Amino acid sequence: MDSARALSDARPTPFWLEDPGRPQALPALVGDTSCDLLVVGGGYSGLWTALIAKERDPSLDVVLVEGQEVGWAASGRNGGFCAASLTHGFGNGLQRWPGELAELERQGTANLQAIEDTLKRYGIDAEWERTGEIDVATQPHQLEELHEVAAAVADYGLDLTVLDADALRAEVDSPTFLGGVWDKEGVAMVHPAKLAWGLKQACLDQGVRIFERTTAAELAEHGTGMAVRTAYGRVFARRVALGTNVFPSLVKRVRPFVVPVYDYALMTEPLSAGQLASIGWRGRQGLGDSANKFHYFRLSADNRILWGGYDAIYQYGGRVRQEYDQRPETFRTLSANFFRCFPQLEGVRFTHAWGGAIDTCTRFSAFFDTAYRGRVAYAAGYTGLGVGATRYGAEVMLDLLAGERTERTALEMVRSKPLPFPPEPVRWAGIELTKWSLDRADRNGGRRNLWLKTMDRLGLGFDS
Ligand SMILES: Cc1cc2nc3c(=O)[nH]c(=O)nc-3n(C[C@H](O)[C@H](O)[C@H](O)COP(=O)(O)OP(=O)(O)OC[C@H]3O[C@@H](n4cnc5c(N)ncnc54)[C@H](O)[C@@H]3O)c2cc1C
Repeated sequence: MDSARALSDARPTPFWLEDPGRPQALPALVGDTSCDLLVVGGGYSGLWTALIAKERDPSLDVVLVEGQEVGWAASGRNGGFCAASLTHGFGNGLQRWPGELAELERQGTANLQAIEDTLKRYGIDAEWERTGEIDVATQPHQLEELHEVAAAVADYGLDLTVLDADALRAEVDSPTFLGGVWDKEGVAMVHPAKLAWGLKQACLDQGVRIFERTTAAELAEHGTGMAVRTAYGRVFARRVALGTNVFPSLVKRVRPFVVPVYDYALMTEPLSAGQLASIGWRGRQGLGDSANKFHYFRLSADNRILWGGYDAIYQYGGRVRQEYDQRPETFRTLSANFFRCFPQLEGVRFTHAWGGAIDTCTRFSAFFDTAYRGRVAYAAGYTGLGVGATRYGAEVMLDLLAGERTERTALEMVRSKPLPFPPEPVRWAGIELTKWSLDRADRNGGRRNLWLKTMDRLGLGFDS
């Protein structure tokens, strides 16, 4: 079948957000209010910050403002791979913070466990499945790289199970798989929107006041705290935490550190028992292939396959726009690659096709700091791995606002910043050259050209 035809009924909207459990948006803020802590942004970053602030001190008056609806952005439309890694994967962590990677991995593992414990504590049903993730090789050089990683992780308190082609295909069967490594403990699958909505309800139950359709337009110092202007009111807050991700930061100097990179995904119809049996996948793991331009794929609770990644699109000028959420040429490529991976699923159709913006920074893992003399904290730059790490970023923001030195704020990863992106048009040219080089490396046995080697030496990169 022509793989494009499988897209003919695909709805141009994120599968996860169409759920009947989607809550009503809460009313906007009208008039003035004051609070101890104002959280800006109703994605995971903001929700975790509000919830943990209440857990640390139930007497704190916490307000959260969200410009549209809680969970509508990246947090409600991602792949749902919730990873322990705080460094956008082990390899990136090893390259940048070898001296503290064992500690970062320990804290990341504790963070993942804390997410699982929170879901249990508040009775949040987010289809959480602690299945782990298998990174697969589809080219011989990727197999070597995966084996190197599997050998290296043991020194950092991690354990990966190496699978040869037969063992891998006994788990999940694709003729393109040459082998893989399975991280059994470090990744869970989750329904991303249900996670956001569940955190929203937990916040409300703890007394957080949430205002939706309430964009924070401007920050200004006010007495010993901050004043934040919204469309119909103002919030006077002792402290402010910004969980605004890829959207223009209210602290202007943060903006050059983050660019929006659009990532796209397809969802199939539910597989029949026979179709599922043709792949196996009884362990229901998340999977990712190991190219620079990689795919990620997983099962939903009702046995659909989410198939995403590959293209990572930066639009000249770096704006976040709804029209970028749909990209037919990427959907065609994703569909063709899907049927190449799983030819036994010929005839399966896609029901949903969508995209979303990722807050890419040049080191691929979040950075944190304060502004306005310690009254405002921010965390951004999670790149494509923020489902789990945003909870950690929330803890860091609260540590910073409290002025506390903790096991988190002691880390070099937390204290340092990435290099910023240059302004346009150099930014666009640099990103395009990097993407072209990464694509070439994928077609060329993984060999990196002079440009990529120079970027590696400078600690600069581009990823999703
Ligand atoms: C297609 C896609 C797939 C992904 N897959 C994965 C994955 O499988 N695993 C993984 O770990 N990560 C993945 N990610 C990344 C992950 O989704 C994000 O890192 C994470 O959701 C970031 O959460 P957040 O709260 O920081 O941002 P968001 O969810 O973007 O929330 C930010 C919120 O702030 C609000 N806001 C912004 N400015 C203002 C303002 N001035 N006033 C009021 N509100 C404001 C926005 O409306 C938005 O709701 C993916 C991302 C995308 C787009």
